[in-house]
Amino acid sequence: MALIVQKFGGTSVGSTEKIKAVAKRVLQCRQQGNQMVIVLSAMSGETDRLTGLARDIQKIPNRREMDMLLSTGEQVTIALFAMAVKAAGREAVSFLGDQVAIRTDAMHTKARIRSIDTEKIKKNLDAGKVVTIAGFQGVTEEGDITTLGRGGSDTTAVALAAALEADACEIFTDVEGVYTTDPNICSKARKIDKISYDEMLELASLGAKVLDIRSVGLAKRYGVPLHVRSTFTENEGTWVVEEDKIMESMLVSGVTYNKNEARITIKHVPDQPGIASKIFLPISDAGILVDMIIQNTSDSHLTDMTFTVVRNDYSRAMEILQGVCREIGAESVTGDKDIAKISIVGVGMRNHSGIAATMFQILANEGINMEMVSTSEIKVSCVVAEKYTELAVRALHDAFALDKENMPTEEEL
Ligand code: ADP
Ligand code: ASP
Ligand code: MG
Repeated sequence: MALIVQKFGGTSVGSTEKIKAVAKRVLQCRQQGNQMVIVLSAMSGETDRLTGLARDIQKIPNRREMDMLLSTGEQVTIALFAMAVKAAGREAVSFLGDQVAIRTDAMHTKARIRSIDTEKIKKNLDAGKVVTIAGFQGVTEEGDITTLGRGGSDTTAVALAAALEADACEIFTDVEGVYTTDPNICSKARKIDKISYDEMLELASLGAKVLDIRSVGLAKRYGVPLHVRSTFTENEGTWVVEEDKIMESMLVSGVTYNKNEARITIKHVPDQPGIASKIFLPISDAGILVDMIIQNTSDSHLTDMTFTVVRNDYSRAMEILQGVCREIGAESVTGDKDIAKISIVGVGMRNHSGIAATMFQILANEGINMEMVSTSEIKVSCVVAEKYTELAVRALHDAFALDKENMPTEEEL
């Protein structure tokens, strides 16, 4: 008898009809003698709706109360799902995060899981029940409800699979697996059969929201094999596993975009030791993540500092930086929310030069201006105006021939 953790995303449980269909699918797997733990997201659009309600009340909502609010979405789906299983004549029980002691730190709206008590879950599985658990939420030592950040139900599922030492963790979603780019904006996107944890980490961190990055990190650390697949077909999806030799040869394996960041520029910052920490310490103390930091060289003892933050944190970051700007004697803080970060990723880039130049040329051919650039061993990222996102992704996917199984060599590009 195998123990399987399955997670169904928002679109998969977006209506009562869909919840009934999920219950049917889960029971087929249960019928084969497996023990089933089911993690559910809120119905599609629900977390956004709740976020909108909060913003109607408070421009920057209180984060503890935000968690109290956002965690309700998943309570609805697990209860309905357990009812659907019971209506089909089988036993089921639903639990919120705190009922199975999914303990987290106290960083509200982006909490991290510290531990899970598996005893209650195992007892119910042994009693023959399908156990369904709310994704995306946990509880602090003090008993406060927390959420794990958008897309966090994937992380709940993998954390449960690791804690329960499950035989498999399946992530069911609205596409057939992990693709070379988002199949919803590029019709030529190709499904990848097998991808390494490291490459998936890179894709997820750069915007491929098909898997939450923390779920991939946990899966790698605990050796949980992940299967990403469609709720609506029986087809084999994508396996995320240890690095496979074949993948080493891929020059570029995916194109990602991230519309979830905002750019901030501080103009005329005194170019002195210690200034950067005066800017970034208050930001990190507020739990705001910073990405892509660029500092110009200066001739005049004054420099400009540009970086990106998560879009949701933009208002808070700007508020903090107005104060910092006055304190350090910088000229002004400006920002732009309408940006997108477009990236190409591939482990094969490690041994090849010229990939970044090719990317710049492709964007230039489309008349797309690059506002920021950053590179690492296995990726190149460019910030562009948000309106160019789809155009840039399609052009890069075409130029690097990602729709083909066999990648072109550098000379062929
Ligand atoms: P769920 O609600 O099931 O968690 P998400 O919306 O979080 O689903 O993730 C699935 C979506 O991820 C797809 O509908 C697709 O638009 C998007 N996506 C972005 N990049 C990729 C990619 N490289 N491969 C597959 N899907 C991707
Ligand atoms: N409901 C949450 C969200 O929409 C968590 C999740 O779906 O993974 O982000
Ligand atoms: Mg998701």
